[in-house]
Amino acid sequence: MENYRFVGEKILTWYQIHKRTLPWRNITNPYKIWISEVILQQTRVVQGLEYYERFIGRFPDVHTLAAADEQDVLKYWQGLGYYSRARNLHAAARSIETHFGGKFPEDYESLLKLKGIGEYTAAAIASFAFNHPCPVVDGNVFRFLSRLFAIEEPIDTSKGKKFFTELAGRLMDRRQAGLFNQAIMEFGALQCVPVSPDCGICTFASHCLAKMQGKVSEFPVKLNKPKTKELYLYYFLIHSGEFIFLKKREGKGIWQNLYEFPSVESEIPLSFEDLVKRTDFQALFPGNASHPAPDSETFDTSLIFKLLIKNYKHVLTHRILYADFYEVSVENTLGLEEYKKIRQSEIGEYPIHRLMQSFLEKIME
Ligand code: SF4
Repeated sequence: MENYRFVGEKILTWYQIHKRTLPWRNITNPYKIWISEVILQQTRVVQGLEYYERFIGRFPDVHTLAAADEQDVLKYWQGLGYYSRARNLHAAARSIETHFGGKFPEDYESLLKLKGIGEYTAAAIASFAFNHPCPVVDGNVFRFLSRLFAIEEPIDTSKGKKFFTELAGRLMDRRQAGLFNQAIMEFGALQCVPVSPDCGICTFASHCLAKMQGKVSEFPVKLNKPKTKELYLYYFLIHSGEFIFLKKREGKGIWQNLYEFPSVESEIPLSFEDLVKRTDFQALFPGNASHPAPDSETFDTSLIFKLLIKNYKHVLTHRILYADFYEVSVENTLGLEEYKKIRQSEIGEYPIHRLMQSFLEKIME
């Protein structure tokens, strides 16, 4: 894993610049870290702040909480819901008083014995407060790691949780365990966000496999939740004299072994200007257009692309597809060698998918 040392280095550099200032940051008080983690399990940071300040204001340390009346604790928990968590906090505080002499246990195993403290919270307290090298893997970390390494292991199985926890542990800078954990969680929360992360400005842009594969929205993989994904397809009915071109879809994706026109796929809608900048578009028409100059955003093409159908919607079980169909005539077939060159009248001899079928029916009209 030495090769991946850059992950920790980059994450820590990013964190120093971008971290939010929060009252439970830059502290090593295990009690306050514990309270903040439990509150954040059920509410967002912005709302959680107010509850945290109020709770800590009334119960500033473990002794105060242990000595309080349960009704009082519940009152200060009001609005957060999940009252069992407040009861567990109270019970655990009393247990720390009784069994640990009022001193917060430091190690992960002892923390786990406290009521209401599970693996995640135990790891957070052990690392944030005591710098123990326990990986903290929350939804933000699952998402970031699964995208960075394009990991298809589902995150909602015990095997998947173990896998990601071990991976986070291997990436961790053990001398700065608490800082690393906070940084990687913050990175997932602010940069590698669930929907449409701004990958263009990401410090991992040149390393991230999901980004490189154009599959950011496919990660993290969940076993029990079917994925619904939008996909934008740009098809090209390319004429070269009396011939057109087809390709057979390979791999495990949709429409395996069915034929279709050469295409470009995207997770986000593309304008034509965006489309021509794509390397897969440029690979299709290299002999007919000049590549953009290194310092230019433009793609100079002499080809005329006629838009036949725009934004044609096609719904599959877990995907919603939007397809544009262009027609273009080329002189030079460089870039199309791997495609099947057929006469248009022969297309009926090839198995095609429903979307292609719909397109052909429409242009027949
Ligand atoms: S490039 Fe995008 S998907 Fe990859 S880590 Fe960065 S924000 Fe996340």
